[in-house]
Amino acid sequence: MYPANHNKDDILYKKELKAKIEKLKDKKNAIILVHNYQRDEIQEIADFSGDSLALARVAATDKKSDIIVFCGVRFMAESGAILNPKKRVLLPVKESGCPLADMITPEKLRRKKREFPDAAVVCYVNSSAEVKAESDISCTSSNAIEVVKSIKNKRVIFVPDKNLGRYVQSQVPEKEIILWEGFCPTHIRLTDEDVIKAKAKFPDAEFVAHPECSPEVLKMADHICSTAGMFRYAKNSKAKVFIIGTESGMLYKLREENPGKVFHVPTPRLLCANMKLTTLGWVAHSLENLVYEVKVPRNVSEKARKTLEKMLNITKKSE
Ligand code: SF4
Repeated sequence: MYPANHNKDDILYKKELKAKIEKLKDKKNAIILVHNYQRDEIQEIADFSGDSLALARVAATDKKSDIIVFCGVRFMAESGAILNPKKRVLLPVKESGCPLADMITPEKLRRKKREFPDAAVVCYVNSSAEVKAESDISCTSSNAIEVVKSIKNKRVIFVPDKNLGRYVQSQVPEKEIILWEGFCPTHIRLTDEDVIKAKAKFPDAEFVAHPECSPEVLKMADHICSTAGMFRYAKNSKAKVFIIGTESGMLYKLREENPGKVFHVPTPRLLCANMKLTTLGWVAHSLENLVYEVKVPRNVSEKARKTLEKMLNITKKSE
């Protein structure tokens, strides 16, 4: 009896919370930006959902709202605050950080720069504002290859994800990429054995992997791309079944956009605990109390903005 009642209560509770969020959003003139790895119910309340690049673009250009509620992790909200400093940017759960972003500090990066003075620094957006301020240009997994190709220097220090950096190196052999020893603890949990088992279970499926996965896993992929690339690939591919090698929140929109196709994750371990911290309750709390405002000190934000804007300009030119 309890689980059935509990589920019913849960559905009612979520419905009430969604109605409350809608009202608060209108009252406070707010918009809700949601990353593709968020819980399904958070993706349902999004004014806009997407990957880091798409969210950064919306945050940079939004003129209508006074407040942006960023349902993602801290570095994403920071990028929003950096790109649109007049806007109030809220992160519903202040503890929602990114362990990959925490694998580098500005001090350590400065040391690396001294070691390779002729190298340009490309930082993955999954990094703190301080690290961005120390870098020459940012990138996301959607545009990392394009960004690295655009750099004049032969040598590039790529931080902080070594797997993405290694993948970029394989696509841009004319550069010498100095890798940082960082990794995403979510993507690294996917093993080649998981992929072998999933392929045996779904023999007709195409395996699509995110470049944050390990090289062993990437070797087995039919296609390697960012989350934005996965939406395009799933839509255009003739395949009907897909094994998705990235955080499981992706399944929500892939299934919604492709009703005739089937999507699986190779392991339930593809779950980012930080991304899942945001709940409807926290979003309502955030809007009601205008917390937790993300502020970046001006001296850091001005330098980090240049790094982010350079990336946005490069991608804009190629579209
Ligand atoms: S999925 Fe990985 S990179 Fe993304 S927020 Fe979680 S830990 Fe960070």
